[in-house]
Amino acid sequence: MEHYPFINPPLPYAYSALEPYIDTKTMHIHHDRHLQAYTDNLNKALADKPALQGLTLEQLIMTANRMPPDTGVPISRNAGGVYNHRFYFNGMSPSSTGVPFGELAWAIDESFGSFESFKEKFTAAAMSVFGSGYAWLVCDQGGRLKIITTANQETPLPLRLCPILNIDVWEHAYYLKHYNERAKYIDDWWNVVNWGLANARYADRTDGQNC
Ligand code: MN
Repeated sequence: MEHYPFINPPLPYAYSALEPYIDTKTMHIHHDRHLQAYTDNLNKALADKPALQGLTLEQLIMTANRMPPDTGVPISRNAGGVYNHRFYFNGMSPSSTGVPFGELAWAIDESFGSFESFKEKFTAAAMSVFGSGYAWLVCDQGGRLKIITTANQETPLPLRLCPILNIDVWEHAYYLKHYNERAKYIDDWWNVVNWGLANARYADRTDGQNC
């Protein structure tokens, strides 16, 4: 299992692969600077804490709020930043099917009426994030799909929710291409959703890997 010191693995596709929806420069800066900084700062926060160096990213996130604030806050923010960004980058693909398929497609229809209705609700949630944060499709402990938002680098994990899909709506995720128009960025993002991975995350939701 991965633990300290954490590394920032390369993107699973080329920086330019999500063009024209997500631009190359944004992908470079977002992955190589923003995610790199969260990774470096997480390692810094753990450097003098040998007792925590064997914990996985998920374990750090789950236990950070039980640590004293001077330890727990930087670990929570930076482990969350690493977790959320990896989840987001892996959750996109240049060969998106455009629509969900398999068991997840069925569950989305059942929970939200239709994919179009889900898309509307998820878009509205992503638009509703005030300031920086994420919108998520998650599965609760009862197996129900839900749309939630989180602020800053908080994750759904301490809420005992299993993440299926997320979108980063911090301005750095879209400002270079879409300027202040978050709605246009979200509209573009729908074209690059990695439904294959979302489906696998949904299928694996009970194996302890994601939640
Ligand atoms: Mn980001």
